[in-house]
Amino acid sequence: MGKGQGTTGRFGTRYGRTPKNKLKKIEAKQKATYTCPHCTYKKVKRVSSGIWLCNKCDVKFAGRAYEI
Ligand SMILES: [Zn+2]
Repeated sequence: MGKGQGTTGRFGTRYGRTPKNKLKKIEAKQKATYTCPHCTYKKVKRVSSGIWLCNKCDVKFAGRAYEI
């Protein structure tokens, strides 16, 4: 009797943080500017999932969803 009790709540506060951290990382990648492979200027921004646009030479190209 009594075995297996008293362990609940020990790690309760540790869970639930990982998804938020992941989202923050993805968000940072979405907002970051990348180097354009055409003009080599750091003017490339993500316009939609997998689509990137260079503000310098106006070239649109496909990349990965969250980074080139
Ligand atoms: Zn460019």
